[in-house]
Amino acid sequence: MPDAQPVAPNLDDYDDACRRFTWAQARTALRGLPDGGLNMAYEAVGRHAAGARATQVALRFLRRDGTVHDLTYAALAVEIARFAGVLTSLGVSPGSAVFVLADRVPELYIAALGTLWHGGVFAPLFSAFGPEPIASRLTLGEGRVLVTTPAYYRAKVQPMRAALPSLTQVLLIGDAAEIAALPDTKDLRALLAAAPTDTAVASTTADTLALLHFTSGTTGRPKGAMHVHGAVVAHAATGRLVLDLHDDDVFWCTADPGWVTGTSYGIVAPLVCGVTSIIDEGDFDAARWYQVLETQRVTVWYTSPTAIRMLIRAGTALPKARDLRALRFVASVGEPLNADAVVWGVDAFGQPIHDNWWQTETGGIMIANYRAMAVRPGSMGRPLPGIEAAIVHRVASGGVAVETAPGVQGELALRAGWPSMFRGYLHDEARYAACFADGWYLTGDHARRDADGYFWFVGRADDVIKSSGHLIGPFEVESALLAHPAVAEAAVIGVPDPMAGELVKAFVVLKPGETASDAMANTLRGFARTRLGAAVAPKTIAFVAGIPKTRSGKILRRLLKARELGLPEGDLSTLEGPSQ
Ligand code: ATP
Ligand code: MG
Repeated sequence: MPDAQPVAPNLDDYDDACRRFTWAQARTALRGLPDGGLNMAYEAVGRHAAGARATQVALRFLRRDGTVHDLTYAALAVEIARFAGVLTSLGVSPGSAVFVLADRVPELYIAALGTLWHGGVFAPLFSAFGPEPIASRLTLGEGRVLVTTPAYYRAKVQPMRAALPSLTQVLLIGDAAEIAALPDTKDLRALLAAAPTDTAVASTTADTLALLHFTSGTTGRPKGAMHVHGAVVAHAATGRLVLDLHDDDVFWCTADPGWVTGTSYGIVAPLVCGVTSIIDEGDFDAARWYQVLETQRVTVWYTSPTAIRMLIRAGTALPKARDLRALRFVASVGEPLNADAVVWGVDAFGQPIHDNWWQTETGGIMIANYRAMAVRPGSMGRPLPGIEAAIVHRVASGGVAVETAPGVQGELALRAGWPSMFRGYLHDEARYAACFADGWYLTGDHARRDADGYFWFVGRADDVIKSSGHLIGPFEVESALLAHPAVAEAAVIGVPDPMAGELVKAFVVLKPGETASDAMANTLRGFARTRLGAAVAPKTIAFVAGIPKTRSGKILRRLLKARELGLPEGDLSTLEGPSQ
């Protein structure tokens, strides 16, 4: 289907863009502060509020009660200056960590940007976290200020408050009388209403700390990744080049700001690019999501493989009943996107889904399928202009050997030094140092590069299965199973075996209406064997009702493995499910 709107891609010739791109040039797309500094919130809001976009809607909240609440760039600028004023009046020094534990309500966004305006460090917490993960992150990050609601405060923070001595200010969003009854808290809305609207932006530089993000905890205890204001250069560049954001776009990032995607691309990048961002306060619901795409005339949509697989389960009748012609570009991140899901996009939306790859540590998209480039289904795409990516092997000396042959599996590495690169793991310098060798940042993910420079995800280093001398990536096996029409979800692990080292075991969730049986297991094993060969296909298939995932939608293979082997389950603070 041709593009609904005749909008030329921002990146039309990939090789040419790579030749011409420099980070110094990308920086010139931003305004900068008069003293030569750089501030993320100024680039995202302040400069637009003072310019042609002042009256444009910056954030559109689709509230749970069905109403819509818009904040223009000008209105948002006033609110974030007020929030910075509140911090000043409370004696919170720049550089302090401000944590936010809230649903996707306006005050979350105001606090995030207001903290950056103030020169503080914004640290989001996923609102479904229970008291323990909240307390441990507040302690690790030495949170001075916490913005939350009375309900979350009572249930999740108050019981631990005595053990949080660095937490001096608790600012609550909600009913004034309810807040007044809670000792040692303040009413954020009242403070905002009384605050001055002209608090000047802090004189931060590209190297000033701005964000503290905890990783998803897929491979172990979550790490606190620290980011600087200079990351906004990468947010701007990727917003334009990968998400193809143009002036009139309506952009919807479905990720929660509790995770890095929901901040880098749910808050900062779309505002920096000056577009209107949709914020849906509700939870996933296939029918409603298509309704949002249609009624808001979303043009660029950024979502996740888990959400896409849930939409696939709900069928194509739903999107086909909607007028989605405004939708120009669909992208996905967070997990590998299996080839069948990419192609499903063509059926549902008239266009493939564009997978891209990055991590909390990289701060922004690093490898992507671009709008103007043919998508290779199952591939993460090609490195962002300005990013050098390679496949490397760790060598005994502690350095790395760069793989030059195409098709060889190894660790994905990025040449260190891009603007949104993390600047440390909180209180874990040794771990940070261990991520770098010979000028490369080592990602901990295994991948392959093909002869044309496309990267193919194999698996996390911890998840790669070694079976009879083969290195098997779980994604390859999961993708093969997902290609079978009866399979809704699949997760693959290696189970120790005295002969083979490890044997491939698959956990499969069937689509509604399919029946788990030995015959079905045989069918799926045979199906995988014809696609993958006997050495790689799963030896065992277990049918399960659901697959354990992080709250950001990543398969927790380490948990499947621990349960399989009867080992301790490890840190489960990010496990999806009822609050712990
Ligand atoms: P932790 O580091 O705590 O174990 P995590 O790595 O899952 O958790 P994130 O930084 O949120 O935390 O996720 C980044 C990881 O997600 C990547 O390293 C990669 O393994 C996976 N990932 C993200 N996008 C993609 C993608 N497009 N294809 C394949 N894998 C992806
Ligand atoms: Mg990680």
